[in-house]
Amino acid sequence: MLKGIPASPGIAIGKAFLFDTSQLIVNEKDIKQDAIPSEITRFEEALIKTRSEILAIQKKISKEMGTQHAEIFNAHLLVLEDRMLIEEVIEGLKKERKCVEYIFSKVIEKYIKVFSKMNDEYLKERTSDIEDVGKRILKNLIGAQEKTLSDLKEEVIVVAYDLSPSDTANMHKKNVKGFVTDIGGRTSHTAIMAKSLEIPAVVGLENVTARVKAGDMLIVDGADGIVLINPDKTVLKKYEAKQQKFVEFEKTLLNLKDTPATTLDGHRVEISANIELPNEVSSVIAHGAEGIGLYRTEFLYMNRNDVPDEEEQFEAYKKVTTRLPKKPVIIRTLDLGGDKFLSQLKFPHEMNPFLGWRAIRFCLAKPEVFKVQLRAILRASVFGNIKIMFPMISGLGELRQAIKVLEEAKQELRVKKVSFNENIEVGAMIEIPSAALTCDLLAKEVDFFSIGTNDLIQYSLAVDRANEKIAYLYKPTHPAVLRLIKNIIDSGHKENIWVGMCGEMAAETGFVLILLGLGLDEFSMSPVLVPEMKYVISNVRFEDARKVAEEAMKLPTGEEVETFTNKRLNELMPLLKKTKKS
Ligand code: PEP
Ligand code: MG
Repeated sequence: MLKGIPASPGIAIGKAFLFDTSQLIVNEKDIKQDAIPSEITRFEEALIKTRSEILAIQKKISKEMGTQHAEIFNAHLLVLEDRMLIEEVIEGLKKERKCVEYIFSKVIEKYIKVFSKMNDEYLKERTSDIEDVGKRILKNLIGAQEKTLSDLKEEVIVVAYDLSPSDTANMHKKNVKGFVTDIGGRTSHTAIMAKSLEIPAVVGLENVTARVKAGDMLIVDGADGIVLINPDKTVLKKYEAKQQKFVEFEKTLLNLKDTPATTLDGHRVEISANIELPNEVSSVIAHGAEGIGLYRTEFLYMNRNDVPDEEEQFEAYKKVTTRLPKKPVIIRTLDLGGDKFLSQLKFPHEMNPFLGWRAIRFCLAKPEVFKVQLRAILRASVFGNIKIMFPMISGLGELRQAIKVLEEAKQELRVKKVSFNENIEVGAMIEIPSAALTCDLLAKEVDFFSIGTNDLIQYSLAVDRANEKIAYLYKPTHPAVLRLIKNIIDSGHKENIWVGMCGEMAAETGFVLILLGLGLDEFSMSPVLVPEMKYVISNVRFEDARKVAEEAMKLPTGEEVETFTNKRLNELMPLLKKTKKS
C-alpha cells in the first residue's frame, strides 16, 4: 500500500499503464563501416524534416500572434544549422560506429550540460531551445509518435512521474479509470483537472513509478490518497464494495441538485462550478451548479500547435453561456505560466515560474494577445450573463491597467458597431497577499471578488502548491490565511460587492463552517463536488457556522483550527461522516 496526496475522489480498479513523456528510448546499436553513409543521410533527412516542422509552427504563430512570438523559433533554427554540432555527430559516427540516434543523443546531452552551466544568462536560457530541438530531431530519427493519453486502446490506470495539465486535458475519460503520480500537490492544475474529469487520482506518491510494473492490478482510492498494488481477493472485494457505496452516495446527493443552498435558518449562498473546457457544461448542469464561478480559459490553448483566434474563442464562450441561460458565467482571462505552459507560446525559462511571468502579467505585456480574448468575451456577453475576472491582480495599479485594456477592447468594438453588454461586470481574483491586504482599495473599483485560495495559500505561506515534499505545510486553516480571507470578505461587503471563492478550499466540507460563518457569498468548485456542498450547507445553521468561525479565528495554529471545525461539523452533521466512510 502506498500513501500519497488525495487529488480526486472515487475508487478506480484496473491495470497499470506506465506513461513516460520525458524520455525517448534510444537503443545503442552497432553499425558496419559501409552503413555510415546511409546513417549520415538519415541524419540529414531528420534535420530537414525538423526544419520544415519548425518553419510551419513559426508561420502559424506569426500569423496568429505576431512576428515577435514567432522569432523565438529562430533560436531553434540556429541549433539545427550549427555546424559544430553536425560535424561532431558525423565524426562520432565514423569513430564509434553506432547508430546515428545513439551518437546524436550523446552529442546533444553534452551540449545541454555545457549550456546549462554557462554563467551568461542568455546562453543559459538557450538550454531549453537545445533540449526542444534535440527531442524533435530524435523523434524524427526514431520515427516515434509523440505520446499522448488520447489514444489509449483499453481501460487503464495511468502511472506517471508527473502529468502536465495538458497531458491531463488530453486524457480520454473512457479509457483512463484513474491516475497516480510520483510528484504533485493537491491543488496542482493536474489534480484540479482530474476532479473536473471525475477521474479518481492520487498524486505525490514519490516512487509509484518505481514500485509499479506495467499490467499490475491497482486500486486507487482518490479520497483517502491510497494506492494498492496487486491486492488479494479480500481487499479487492472490500474496495469493490466501497466503490459501489461511493457511487450510491453520489447518486443520493444528486437528488439535491435543484435545491438552492440555504441553511436551516434561511441564509442563502450560491454554489457555482469551476470548468476548464466548454464541454464540461453538461456536468455543470447535471450536478446542479448555479452558474460558473471560474472558467479557466487557458485550457482552450492547450494540446494544439496554434492559438485560438477571436472567432474560435467567441464561439466557445457563446456556447458555454447559451447553455446556461441567465446563469452567471465568470470567464477568467488567460492565466498561463506557473504550472501551465504551452509549447506553441514559448515561455522563457524561469527560476520561479509561480512568481514569474504569469497570468495578468503576461497579458499586460502582450496586449495584442489579451485584446483578442477580451473582444471575444465581450462579443459573447450579449448571449447570457457573462462576467470578466482578472487573475493574479497584485494591487490597484495593475487592476487599473487591466481595466484600461478592457476599455480599449470595448472601444474597438464600438467603432466597428459590434454589440456587447456595456454593463458587463468585472471582478478580481484575490490570490496574492498584497491584493488581500489592499482589497479595501480594490473593492471600490470592481463588481466582485473571487478568492483564489490555491495561490493565496502558496504565496502567503511560501509553500509551492505543486510540491509534495512540503504539502504538509499547505494549510488552508493557517491563522494567516484565515485572517486574509476574513479581511477580503469584510472589505468586499463594506463596499457592497459580493465575495466568492474558487480555490479548492471552497470545495472541502471540512472548511465550510468557517467560510460560511465568515460570510462568504459564493462557493465555486468542480461540478462533481457541488451536490455534497449543497447537502452540507442545507443541513447546518448559519448561526452555528458564525460561532464556529468566531472561535476558529481565535485558535493559534492551523492544526487546532482543523480539529476544531471537523469536530463541530461531526457534531452538527453526524450523518455526513457515516455516509461517506462506512
Ligand atoms: C486559485 O489560485 O485558487 C485559483 C482558483 O486559480 P488557479 O487554481 O487556476 O491558479
Ligand atoms: Mg490562481
